[in-house]
Amino acid sequence: MSANYKRVLIKLSGEALQGDQGYGISPSTLETFAGEIAELQRMGVEVAIVIGGGNIFRGVAGSTAGMDRTSADYMGMLATVMNGIALQDAIERLGVATRLQTALEIKEIAEPYIRRRATRHLEKGRVVIFGAGTGNPYFTTDTAAALRAMEVQAEVILKATNVDGVYDCDPRTNPNAKRFERLTYLDVLSKNLRVMDSTAISLCMENDLPIIVFDLNQAGNIKRVIEGEDLGTLICP
Ligand code: UDP
Repeated sequence: MSANYKRVLIKLSGEALQGDQGYGISPSTLETFAGEIAELQRMGVEVAIVIGGGNIFRGVAGSTAGMDRTSADYMGMLATVMNGIALQDAIERLGVATRLQTALEIKEIAEPYIRRRATRHLEKGRVVIFGAGTGNPYFTTDTAAALRAMEVQAEVILKATNVDGVYDCDPRTNPNAKRFERLTYLDVLSKNLRVMDSTAISLCMENDLPIIVFDLNQAGNIKRVIEGEDLGTLICP
């Protein structure tokens, strides 16, 4: 089967990297994900990734514990950079060229985010990993994913999660939870479904950018989604 998309943006939450460890980065989860990314690259798909940081630090948790929210958010952004370095290392070990670009300048370890450069890397078949979110406190990496996807003109956001789509309630606690195959952006906002934060959904809605929410833990799922298999939940106009 051939790829349905030429250029995609994958949003990988920090939690997706922690496997069943409960914190940090699981080496085997990271390796599996890197293998799937390498396969996409070999299929000729241009891959950009926005990486989260929740497996290490979240600004909200820091501020709840009494920290200044902005300082805590900067820690969260740095956490995403740590994940980005780990991901870059894992993908490059498989012989695929990558570039890590960060929204906060840390020039010894990553390129600063420059849209034209990012696009050029993608054209050359390099996997581009975006770290440090949007570079602004009070935002999330979901919003960074929506923003970067539009900037580099990705055709779709692939939101990799630990459940196989969007449900009407939490499938981990309610056995009668129903999975939606398709939703509009407005459904997500009005039903307050926990897919991506409302800023990210609104950005996608204003720009007609489709989102596919799927389960990362099923081996080969990213490739299946890219080949057009009906997996997870499609969010579109
Ligand atoms: N963050 C931020 N601005 C951004 C992106 C992220 O301040 O543009 C901070 C925020 O504190 C957040 C943390 O980085 O809690 C980690 O990002 P996120 O929670 O989006 O990661 P994920 O849930 O995807 O693992």
